[in-house]
Amino acid sequence: MIIFSSEEQAIIEQYKRLKAAAGTHSPSISSLTETVKGITVKTDACFLSNPYATDLFLEYFQRDLIINKRIRDVLEFYPTQNRGIACHLEGLLGVPANNIFIGNGAIEIIQALLHRFTKKRMLVILPTFSPYYEFARSDVEVFYHTLDKENFFILNTEKLLHDIVENKIDTLIIVNPNNPDGSYIPLATLYNVLKECGALEQVIIDESFIHFAYEEDSFAIPTCVPFCAQFSNLVVVKSMSKDFGIAGVRAGYAVMNENKVSALLQNGYLWNSNGIAEYFFKLMGRKEFLTEYEQLRCRYIKERQFFYEELSQISQILVYPTSANFFLVELLDGTKANDLALALLLRHGIYIRSAKDKKGLSGEFVRVASRRLDENKLIAHALKDSFV
Ligand SMILES: *Cc1c(COP(=O)(O)O)cnc(C)c1O
Repeated sequence: MIIFSSEEQAIIEQYKRLKAAAGTHSPSISSLTETVKGITVKTDACFLSNPYATDLFLEYFQRDLIINKRIRDVLEFYPTQNRGIACHLEGLLGVPANNIFIGNGAIEIIQALLHRFTKKRMLVILPTFSPYYEFARSDVEVFYHTLDKENFFILNTEKLLHDIVENKIDTLIIVNPNNPDGSYIPLATLYNVLKECGALEQVIIDESFIHFAYEEDSFAIPTCVPFCAQFSNLVVVKSMSKDFGIAGVRAGYAVMNENKVSALLQNGYLWNSNGIAEYFFKLMGRKEFLTEYEQLRCRYIKERQFFYEELSQISQILVYPTSANFFLVELLDGTKANDLALALLLRHGIYIRSAKDKKGLSGEFVRVASRRLDENKLIAHALKDSFV
């Protein structure tokens, strides 16, 4: 059991006020360190990001925009319109620009899809990224399909399809790999689900963590974007925040039927992006950048595996297998998730996510992001320490 001193409790009270203001999300590092005195964050394993990718982006950013003095243009002038930025992604995604919608972060796209295209009844798989149910229109009924921890959060498609028919669902949401449990649905399974869901208005597959998943030894990215050509109700949502380590840039895209793109652009979203996001999307089309990115992506995936092995040695926790860049960890010895998260923050400067407020999880869970090798070691040590 974790017992806090009175000094620690005073800091915790400040933290709780800040957390309450952040709703179902976590306070940002800057608001945390500015508001709560006595907290320094050394390692952020709460927000999910590939730090190696941030390094790479920064290198290019510095060379292209700062040293070559192009940053002024990016800041002073308007970025390209939505459809223009979509053109930068055409080659990379192998789909026409007409089918690509650019978002100010994936979160904006999620909001747009749910507000605009959901009819009456939507099915969300739990646990999940909370905006999927929080952003539902008030006239939409949200149905839940809960994954079992006993079954390692693996989706049972037969049960899912049954729920879809029984509840006359028009919008299905799948996050793959799933946040917060990291579970993964193979491409072949998704294909079968899509075949059965042709009558739905939209099937949203959120692939924000797909760069960390693989089915083959080559680590090829198992995206279902190619399925969009066959299934016109499929919308593939992709955030760039996690796998490219650029959450601050606010960049995301979605591949969908061209009529849906037109409907969204008809009365909004013209300049919803920004110059830095546009620079990033152009960069994604550059071969040298992609080659370097691929190397660090594979390295990061391998390091995540080491981290899994390290964490799995701690007997007081159960680490769920993941295809994303984080682990859902269940506390088995009676320790409370909120206490563990606070103890790591106050005593080690390690910020992790208590999953106490996650709908669809019963038990004590925390979510721990995989970071750089040395940071992962620190996290594993701190966790071990917390249970003695
Ligand atoms: C983080 C996250 C998003 C939001 O991404 P932004 O591009 O930063 O808005 C969307 N979907 C899932 C599943 C996420 O975890």
